[in-house]
Amino acid sequence: MYIKNGKGKHMKCFYCDNEVRWNNDFDTEEIPEETYNASEYSIVSMYQCDKCDTWYEVFHTKKETNGD
Ligand SMILES: [Zn+2]
Repeated sequence: MYIKNGKGKHMKCFYCDNEVRWNNDFDTEEIPEETYNASEYSIVSMYQCDKCDTWYEVFHTKKETNGD
């Protein structure tokens, strides 16, 4: 999902092509909401487009499963 631009993480809005603003990274385990908690990913990054007000949640880094 990241578009590398030579200076770290950059992502363009899918809708208006504006560069989205990074908001925060969260550990899905620490968010008391099942949608995140039950995720198979351990990190969720929040991005926001200031131009068209689109909100992005990028799930990454798969949780390690010990074969349940
Ligand atoms: Zn946008």
